[in-house]
Amino acid sequence: MAETKNQSSVLLSVVVPIYNEEMNIRKLYQRIVDVMQQMGIAYEIVFVNDGSRDASMAMILGLADENKSVKYIDFSRNFGHQIAITAGIENAIGERIIIMDGDGQDPPELIPALYEKSLEGFEVVYAKRKSRSGETLMKKITAKLFYRLLAKMTSVEIPIDTGDFRLIHRKVQRVLKLMPERDKYLRGQIAWIGFNHVAVEYDREERMGGETKFSYSKMMKFAMDGIVSFSNWPLKLATMMGFLVSIVAFLMILYSIYQKFFGYTIQGWTSLQISILFLGGVQLVGIGMLGEYLGRVSENVKNRPTYIIRESNIEDPLG
Ligand code: UDP
Ligand code: MG
Repeated sequence: MAETKNQSSVLLSVVVPIYNEEMNIRKLYQRIVDVMQQMGIAYEIVFVNDGSRDASMAMILGLADENKSVKYIDFSRNFGHQIAITAGIENAIGERIIIMDGDGQDPPELIPALYEKSLEGFEVVYAKRKSRSGETLMKKITAKLFYRLLAKMTSVEIPIDTGDFRLIHRKVQRVLKLMPERDKYLRGQIAWIGFNHVAVEYDREERMGGETKFSYSKMMKFAMDGIVSFSNWPLKLATMMGFLVSIVAFLMILYSIYQKFFGYTIQGWTSLQISILFLGGVQLVGIGMLGEYLGRVSENVKNRPTYIIRESNIEDPLG
């Protein structure tokens, strides 16, 4: 099977994760097909239905009936955006692969520019947001802060202000398939893999319809995955804090002993309170950080499949 897959003549695969996007699928599909025809290129569109509860899957099946370049992977439940993209990438057969959202925020009209850049020899061409419209101020601020914080903490260079909208060459796909981690942070993984990267700038559009599927709690989880997968800094921070506090505590002990013999001992309730609370806080931070890493270790040790496919029109899909 791997043989026939490698011999495919598909030049471009477009991977689109779908979670309750019934309002957008048709329009987006039409925009992608228009671009593909204008490029005159052998393509496939890989829709990954991530456990949608609306008519998304029925619409995808309809499109697959109309157009044999439409491939689909239907998950058994919602596994999350990053895993949906991963499944699409793993099963794409194109020489080059585009990753884009299913809500129209990543404009398909940018694909020719990404493709041209990659022909110049770049294995990764990512789309860099010049602006983000239709998103709340809170989302813009938290995103901006997060990407800058992450950049400070990690040793791999994860480009700032980019999402997953990008083109990757098959060479990158091959390495991604060898990376079994479950807490996916694809933009970090792709940065870690290396090769030649370049950015193409664009204006991020508003969602065509429906609303964002990312709650703040999902964003927190995603941010934690990004940090924990690509940095040991929080662990080091806990240790550093521990040392610092121990030194202060040692001085406090000397001071208390001094007070015991040469000063007053009745007072001191305030300082006692403060030091207990402070130490308790620092310890909890440290333990919490350990928990973050340990939790992920145990997830990976379980070795369960990353995603489960209910149905697909791809022969022998991975996963
Ligand atoms: N998505 C998904 N699984 C999820 C959440 C989102 O496949 O659990 C898809 C969604 O359908 C869309 C893309 O991921 O195509 C980005 O989601 P969304 O637009 O809600 O995120 P935002 O742009 O608000 O960050
Ligand atoms: Mg969106």
